[in-house]
Amino acid sequence: MTTADGAVIGTTQIHGNAPRNKAFNIVLLGDGFTAAQQGAFDAAATAFVNALLGTNPFGDLRPVINVFRVNVRSTDSGADDPAAAGGTGATARTYFDASFGGGGIRRLLLANTTTVLTTAAAQVPEFTLALLVVNSTVYGGAGGSIGTYSLAGGATEIAIHEAGHTAFGLADEYPYWAGGNEADRQHHPATEPGEPNVTINTNRNTLKWRWAVAASTPIPTQTNPNPAVEDYSPSPVPAGTVGTFEGAHYYHAGAYRPEWNCKMRNLGVEFCAICKAVIWNRFRPLMTQEVRASALMSVVARYPEHLDVFAVGPDGRCVSNWWDAGSGWAGWFSLMGGVAAPGGAGSPITAISRYDRHLDLFTVGTDNRVYSAWWDASSGWSSWFVLGSIRCRPGSVVTALSRYTDQIDLFTTDESGRTMTLWWNGGGGWARDWVHLGGGIAANGAPVTAVARRPHHLDIFTVGTDNRVYSAWWDQRSGWSGWFAIKGITCRPDSTVTVVARHPDQLDLFTTDSAGRIMSTWWNVTGGWANGWFQVSGGVASPGSDVTAIARYTGHLDLFVIGTDNRVYSTWWHEGGNWAGWFNVSGGVGRPGGQVAAISRHAEQIDVFVTGSDGLAYSTWWNGAGGWAGWFQLGIT
Ligand SMILES: [Zn+2]
Repeated sequence: MTTADGAVIGTTQIHGNAPRNKAFNIVLLGDGFTAAQQGAFDAAATAFVNALLGTNPFGDLRPVINVFRVNVRSTDSGADDPAAAGGTGATARTYFDASFGGGGIRRLLLANTTTVLTTAAAQVPEFTLALLVVNSTVYGGAGGSIGTYSLAGGATEIAIHEAGHTAFGLADEYPYWAGGNEADRQHHPATEPGEPNVTINTNRNTLKWRWAVAASTPIPTQTNPNPAVEDYSPSPVPAGTVGTFEGAHYYHAGAYRPEWNCKMRNLGVEFCAICKAVIWNRFRPLMTQEVRASALMSVVARYPEHLDVFAVGPDGRCVSNWWDAGSGWAGWFSLMGGVAAPGGAGSPITAISRYDRHLDLFTVGTDNRVYSAWWDASSGWSSWFVLGSIRCRPGSVVTALSRYTDQIDLFTTDESGRTMTLWWNGGGGWARDWVHLGGGIAANGAPVTAVARRPHHLDIFTVGTDNRVYSAWWDQRSGWSGWFAIKGITCRPDSTVTVVARHPDQLDLFTTDSAGRIMSTWWNVTGGWANGWFQVSGGVASPGSDVTAIARYTGHLDLFVIGTDNRVYSTWWHEGGNWAGWFNVSGGVGRPGGQVAAISRHAEQIDVFVTGSDGLAYSTWWNGAGGWAGWFQLGIT
């Protein structure tokens, strides 16, 4: 009945070792277990951990999950089971006062929520989710500010379903309220539910899970032919298809679920893709991020006190994290279900900020088409959409630049290596389709890089099929030049030609030659192209690693690369002097063929991002006052 009917015995951590302030902490509390029955509670708690970690996506999230059991003895065994709700009429004096028959529905298992929450907080102050395990074999559970479940058959499935409500705000996707086929549950009210996994909306352009719906999937995907009853006919589409399936959120019709089946609809099946994404994004901020070493992370400073970082996971998943001077790192999150192409070295995400409240992203998807998405401070993230009709070489890089606020120019290589461009401007939107830049064919793996020295001028670079460096330029007055070779070097076929314009009349190029040596040349308006290439301070890159270059101000350059010993190296040049020697940045070690992302938010600041030797995303920074900081794993601050 009350806390007088028992006592807290103690708390034991039964899974995990993540720091509690950066973990998802689950507290299991027992009710209706007598002092002699604590072994049964311990066994139930262990069964829950095994079931949870065996359920997608919790297995992947294991490193940030802690589970604790709070042993509590009750005077009596079991729980109340009122006869009025069809129960046995049993009563039990228990610490949390659990009772079946909530709202007249026997399976609705309620308890003293305040006692559960205060006990959980007293035992594990950092707790995220409190689940009450009730010592009864009567079927039941509930999700609210706490989750409850009993020891009926399939108990752990009930526990995970109820956690779906309590921890992740998921709705029930089944189409009945109590007994089933109720006359007052035929049509869902015309109000959009707040939960992320049910909807009354069948407009594919505004659907809340539109990012996960293939263009070929009909919307609605399945309708209930007779709303008087629940529809359990087979799915008209293959299992795993995301669309809109009628019958959800306690109604036979008028409400839709994302997949034909889901753990929020039936026990014993997986969560649907939308529920998985919700769960995943609840955990992402707690986790460090494993990233492809070979795909450059993209970093953008929309303004000097803010960074947005974009990376691709080993499974191709597009993720982001951001830092703000006021709040630190936010933690990783998935970008609208985007998956980047795994081919070649793996396509990166390219990001640009045309103005401080807007981001544009580009990548090559698993179908080798170019995709874009954007974020605006006023409306948040768009879904991903296809740009043009080309298919890229697997692993192609989409180079993007904004010469001025209302202009985007894109460059990439199609499946036959042709150098292609597409543009957007505020007046006309996206151009009709990609255009081949006359004659340009890139060596396999070589991206097209670009710089805008002035708003109406572009210079582009690639490594041709003869492994020489080629360039072309565009000027508003004269259009595109032809391609021409910048002589004196034979590159690795997959080399990137990195270009920096320190000022409008200067270009500095960096690349790796066939021996991996880090080479440079330059152009300026007075002297034209320099006579040949030179090796920068004897530097040699790890095979597959490219040179990253930034100009913090007009007379200064900083370079970054992964060396042949896989360490992160840097050097710099200052106007009037020679190149400094290469030095290892704060002891950092990357992966073979890794890339170093670097940005200068202001003249006395550099932020650097790299995939560490353990595959996780790391960052460090330099500033004029304090020099180089140590490396830290990029997750949440
Ligand atoms: Zn679902």
